[in-house]
Amino acid sequence: MPARACSATPWRSCVPELLSGHTTLRLGGPARSWVRATTTEELVEAVRACDEAGEPVLVLAGGSNVVVADEGFAGTVVEVATTGVTADHEGDDPTCGGVLVTVAAGEPWDPFVAAAVERGWVGLEALSGIPGRVGATPIQNVGAYGQEISQTLASVRVWDRVLKGVRSFAAADCRFGYRTSRFKADPGRHVVLEVVLQLRQGELGPPVEYAELARVLDVEPGSRAPMTDVRRAVLELRRSKGMVLDPADHDTWSVGSFFTNPVVPAADVPDGAPSWPQGDRLKTSAAWLIEHAGFGKGYGEGAVRLSTKHTLALTNRGGATTEELLSLAREIRGRVDERFGIRLVNEPVLVGCEL
Ligand SMILES: Cc1cc2nc3c(=O)[nH]c(=O)nc-3n(C[C@H](O)[C@H](O)[C@H](O)COP(=O)(O)OP(=O)(O)OC[C@H]3O[C@@H](n4cnc5c(N)ncnc54)[C@H](O)[C@@H]3O)c2cc1C
Repeated sequence: MPARACSATPWRSCVPELLSGHTTLRLGGPARSWVRATTTEELVEAVRACDEAGEPVLVLAGGSNVVVADEGFAGTVVEVATTGVTADHEGDDPTCGGVLVTVAAGEPWDPFVAAAVERGWVGLEALSGIPGRVGATPIQNVGAYGQEISQTLASVRVWDRVLKGVRSFAAADCRFGYRTSRFKADPGRHVVLEVVLQLRQGELGPPVEYAELARVLDVEPGSRAPMTDVRRAVLELRRSKGMVLDPADHDTWSVGSFFTNPVVPAADVPDGAPSWPQGDRLKTSAAWLIEHAGFGKGYGEGAVRLSTKHTLALTNRGGATTEELLSLAREIRGRVDERFGIRLVNEPVLVGCEL
């Protein structure tokens, strides 16, 4: 439904907009009002005006990492739809170590990655196929197939809603960790306006450490492959798991992985479960725990089920409610806890609802 402007506040839609039309789960009730910000000034103004009026704000981008209540959002959704990509220089200058690229928060992520690969900007290719917009990538430090945005991010420019000013955080100050950052830890405080990336230039990606990706690329783990091949292989792998959005495929009506991989003391990793070092602890596989707690692919009845391609994705088969989704998530979390003593943590941000 197109947003319609109020005469009193021209930037604000008066028509209740359903969040389900803006989330990849296709779930979520109405928002009280809606602002689509297409410039950075509009974005800051919209959030500042709401804050001054005491109006709750939900900053929304691609809607691929949120679970919104059936009741919707009793406030204003500020949709980040800003655009613009600028590089500090063009071409492959051999005297430069790389390129600094400034990207507006509302730029769609995967088309930006495709363009980066084409222009020979190295370091994002394994993040191909992740839905959403650029400004959301530092929020949970998006990652896949051995790459994380924190590896190439130079700084983030934000509107700080507490200090009421624009600030820049260098990567070292973003407190990046596995699927987390200072922005996720302090929800709602910072509105990401721009992301600055420092990218090497070339044709080969960094060493491929991720075993599954190395296998598909047919290279030894630790060796390098052309970025275009890495992008193609990642997209192929992701499609086989229902991790590339496809409106015709209900396995992709999800938020991707619903639970993060638990990071636990080594002694708590169940026998037979895969694990990887993560600081002084081990990261184990949430998908393995879910499967071994008795939930196979496609588990569930009715409108909410596990993806038929991936046990970590909870999916809407059409006509589902958020409450049904959360109920399946609780069942899975409860049984994994009972069986292994490990409490799964949700990856998406819950809006107006609880697990
Ligand atoms: C099929 C599928 C596969 C996925 N695969 C991966 C994956 O491999 N790796 C991975 O890490 N994630 C993955 N995800 C999750 C998701 O795509 C990413 O987290 C993505 O970065 C979210 O972007 P978005 O624009 O959709 O954010 P939204 O869902 O709109 O927002 C997510 C959160 O970020 C906040 N936010 C968004 N933009 C801003 C901004 N400009 N300023 C401040 N806060 C903001 C929102 O308020 C919300 O709290 C997947 C999701 C799906 C559906």
